[in-house]
Amino acid sequence: MPVNADTPDDTTTDTTDDRTDDQNGLPCTPTRPRACPRPRTRPSAPLWVAMYHSVGDCSDDPYRITVSPGRLDRQLGWLHRRGLRGVSVTDLLAARARGEGQDLVGLTFDDGYADFADHALPVLRRWGFGATVFVLPGRLGGTNEWDPLGPRRPLLTADAVRRLADTEGLEIASHGLTHVDLALADDALLGAEVGGSRVLLSELTGREVQGLCYPYGTVDRRVADAVRAAGYGYACAIDPGPLTGVFALPRVHIGENDTSVRMLLKYRLNRLRRRPVPLPGAAPLPAPAPVPAPVPDADTVREVR
Ligand SMILES: [Zn+2]
Repeated sequence: MPVNADTPDDTTTDTTDDRTDDQNGLPCTPTRPRACPRPRTRPSAPLWVAMYHSVGDCSDDPYRITVSPGRLDRQLGWLHRRGLRGVSVTDLLAARARGEGQDLVGLTFDDGYADFADHALPVLRRWGFGATVFVLPGRLGGTNEWDPLGPRRPLLTADAVRRLADTEGLEIASHGLTHVDLALADDALLGAEVGGSRVLLSELTGREVQGLCYPYGTVDRRVADAVRAAGYGYACAIDPGPLTGVFALPRVHIGENDTSVRMLLKYRLNRLRRRPVPLPGAAPLPAPAPVPAPVPDADTVREVR
């Protein structure tokens, strides 16, 4: 089936999965550990980091950056049925560096929309998943004014970001200060966006900020070096090509049209297309297998909004 084939059935099940969900269809809990399906992963599976933005009403969404809470719930349920668990990028990288975490998937939410707290967090909690939220400390309490066409969406306030930072399993990380294309910024602006946002977020949350997500997904060597020099531990891109590494992690766009069938295809394509990312402190990786020619994926949003 082509990647872009739409599957209108919201309740599509992954019939290729020969394991069954727990009897009640509920997420794993410490009191029901045996109900959790075992992950079907291989030892050197590439990192899988899902990219979300807004969670809410999809009726006016020209950039296709919104998923409904119901769709997000079904997508996270699909991960659960496959024995996978969503976590923050920092938790994912830390587990992989220990040689663990083959059952972990990074969940990221860009731009810091206020609807994360209202709609995404309850769904994450239902499944016992964590996530990384990339926020813009120069626009807290504002709107997505960088989008010329999209509807105005409120962004998390400083108080909301502080509360999220204190929520177990959630990571607050930087999306720069104001959502500028860092590859086009001069050195002074690059330093302010990258270093300044890290300082402000650290002061706001009282925690060291480990991650940054490149606005619009654009990154080059100069930008990646600036992020590393500013003290970050990792950075997320989309399709960074030869820059792929801890400071240019590839991600997979997940949207409202991604049913269970499409999730499965995207998951398998990621395993085919991506090389394992060398991680600091991790055991040496085996020589990478030849990478197949890129498979067109028209649904990939190449510009992060
Ligand atoms: Zn963005």
